[in-house]
Amino acid sequence: MNHRIPFERVNWINTSFLFFITLFAIIGAPVYLFKYDLHWSLWALFGFYMIATGLSITLGYHRLFSHLSFKAKWPIRFLTLVFGACAFENSALHWCSDHRRHHKHTDHDDDPYDISKGFLWAHIGWILFKLDAPRPMDNVKDLRRDALVRFQDRYYILIAFLVGLVLPAVVGYFVMGNWAGALGGFLIVGALRVFLVQQSTFFINSLCHTIGSQPYSTRCSARDSWIMALVTYGEGYHNYHHEFQHDYRNGVKAWNFDPTKWAIVVLHKLGLVSDLRRVATSKIVAAEMREAQRKAEARLAELRENGESICEQTMARVNELLVQLKKNLSEFESSVSESLDASRSTLKRWRRETRELVRGLAELRLATT
Ligand SMILES: [Zn+2]
Ligand SMILES: [Zn+2]
Repeated sequence: MNHRIPFERVNWINTSFLFFITLFAIIGAPVYLFKYDLHWSLWALFGFYMIATGLSITLGYHRLFSHLSFKAKWPIRFLTLVFGACAFENSALHWCSDHRRHHKHTDHDDDPYDISKGFLWAHIGWILFKLDAPRPMDNVKDLRRDALVRFQDRYYILIAFLVGLVLPAVVGYFVMGNWAGALGGFLIVGALRVFLVQQSTFFINSLCHTIGSQPYSTRCSARDSWIMALVTYGEGYHNYHHEFQHDYRNGVKAWNFDPTKWAIVVLHKLGLVSDLRRVATSKIVAAEMREAQRKAEARLAELRENGESICEQTMARVNELLVQLKKNLSEFESSVSESLDASRSTLKRWRRETRELVRGLAELRLATT
């Protein structure tokens, strides 16, 4: 198989960095913890860096800079740029350019982490290989106007190494008073933390386009998964995000696990961020209704084509629910044309009836398998 790897296109800097970080994280860190007791304050620093760098990517790089889903005062932009650099995922300018391209060309050739090229490509492969020609950075002109973004782009590597790896080692040296402390700071707060935050981001590009449901749209491969939300600071509701990318929320339901959304709300209450963008609930419910209708019609057509015999009662119920759903959708269209907002009770009813149709479809599936 080796002859099929295009070695001339390997990005040796990225590949070596990821190789050593992985080595330090999965071998160096456990061996260190087996031999030494890490001071509790370094564990606290590890927790702080995990949250600071993780949120700087999801709240800063992703929802603030890539999607402009809210506005932030300079201290928030500054901190997310500094700690975002410490995740070693490139400068915000390059990250956002790739990410905006991912949304524009999802699942196609121009998508930098196109899942149709395979799971491993979307997860990490795209970072390990060079492109024939660098992608134009013409989609981040707005971000170039921000002096802090330009500064971070220029000094990204220096900030990443100094704050991301050297500083934890220096703190470790002073906390434990010896070189073992410095090594602990470097291995645990530095390398292990970089590895975990990077994998969390990589999962969004790979697993969030592979596992989970598609309640809002099947136009692209993005999926919603609460399990993924747990390991991606709330970014696991990726089907919603691809459908409504400018919403500052990814987990839009009240019970969704979305710590990035909660952090934005807290910063808003503190007056540090403003202009939070939200999609109207009626629009979100309409997307769910359209998707449920599309799935129901496709399933019924499939059954008719295959001539499968199924429980008439279930079939009649699904047909009845589908008729009701179409009525709800036209109710939505007319409320939009009259610029009226649907009432809470109407939204609740639309949601309930959409859920019933989705449940009916699942029963139909069970009855025919
Ligand atoms: Zn995506
Ligand atoms: Zn996005």
